[in-house]
Amino acid sequence: MQRNLTVAQAQDTILEAVFRLAPETVESASALSRVLAEDVRSTRILPPADCSAMDGYAVRTEDLRTASNAEPVRLQVAFEVAAGGEATVAVEAGQAARIFTGAPVPPGADAVIMQEHVKADGDHISIRREVALGDHIRRAGEDLALGDSVVEAGAVVRPAVAGLLASLGRTVVSVVRRPRVAILSSGDELVEPDAPIDGGRIVASNSYTLAAMCREVGAEPYYLGIAQDRPEDLEAHVRAALVADCIVTSAGVSVGDHDHVKDVFAKLGCEFVFWGVRLKPGHPMLFGRFPGGPAPGSPGPFLFGLPGNPVSAAVTFEQFVRPALRKMSGHDRVFRPTVSARLRAPLTKRAGRMNLVRVSLEVEDGELWATSTGNQSSGVFRSMSDAQGLLVFPGAESELAAGDEVTVQVIDESFFVSRDRGFEGI
Ligand code: AMP
Ligand code: MG
Repeated sequence: MQRNLTVAQAQDTILEAVFRLAPETVESASALSRVLAEDVRSTRILPPADCSAMDGYAVRTEDLRTASNAEPVRLQVAFEVAAGGEATVAVEAGQAARIFTGAPVPPGADAVIMQEHVKADGDHISIRREVALGDHIRRAGEDLALGDSVVEAGAVVRPAVAGLLASLGRTVVSVVRRPRVAILSSGDELVEPDAPIDGGRIVASNSYTLAAMCREVGAEPYYLGIAQDRPEDLEAHVRAALVADCIVTSAGVSVGDHDHVKDVFAKLGCEFVFWGVRLKPGHPMLFGRFPGGPAPGSPGPFLFGLPGNPVSAAVTFEQFVRPALRKMSGHDRVFRPTVSARLRAPLTKRAGRMNLVRVSLEVEDGELWATSTGNQSSGVFRSMSDAQGLLVFPGAESELAAGDEVTVQVIDESFFVSRDRGFEGI
């Protein structure tokens, strides 16, 4: 087992160990934000035929060569084609066909003229301008031709991809399975949110934070309840978690007398990969893996033993579990975005471990400023719930001055959603 890795070493180790999960077939309508596990090729020609992009008249450009204000050309409107209709009858010389948006262009016609540009008079129209070949015609296959690559495996199903899948008649699609994450709290002091908290009881809030973080990243959490600080009880809970892709525990991974988490996992066959990260908050983090799952040949779950302090649990989930879950879900972009910001007020720490400082972010006169959310003790969860970002205070540094340029990992991506339009209305 490796000890006391840097954050980057720990992330790299985890990302090397975890793998993209197997594909599953789901209804395209519910595939939003999932990662495609197949290359989608076009099996259709879209649009299936040349069709009109406007309400107007299908015409033969050769009839209109001489059309001008002085000498309008009169055409007979021979028939009408509606959207969804068939265009089998040809437009002959001297004729036009009434046509609507999306309707197939009838044989003989080679352009469409907008209804606003003609003067209708009974079953005739007069046209005072020349019309270019192909005007207002959407060509068959201009959106998709047969065999076109539409979206490749690895792409995220965004709303427009959902629309393309529908256009292709793809009601089901292959996507990467969502990771199932078993979440376990351990500690004799812990209770559920609806229980009284007298006598020093603490709500097992980490399970709720971590489950929400799983959902936010598209994973499926399931809650294993609270294990008491007794090896037998922990073991019973952990056994129930062995079918998961990941097990996320909080508390019990430091060196206290009652910290049995490591022993129980070792007994059940977990191989520890590393313990301890040079990070504050979050030092006593444990990463391990089970070599075999419950079914023969199936991989066992990965273990993320997070610290118990709510801030430490949340910060270590962000740094280590979230990228792993994104990789398992098929994403190649696994990290939160970072921004460069100016520091509002000075910060100090002892040189050594990297600190991730909870900060709020605001834009002022076009510049981004990061401000500490206050008491940074790992017991003060408000520092986390108020935070939009985690400021990287590098291990070697001990002082950051007001105005310094710093890197902030944005953990509340709604920060990028704007209150302002961002452009002037016209
Ligand atoms: P430990 O790692 O067991 O020493 O726990 C560190 C701190 O985190 C203690 O104050 C615990 O009460 C608290 N803690 C442990 N587990 C949870 C949890 N699931 N939810 C909230 N706080 C917890
Ligand atoms: Mg404990």
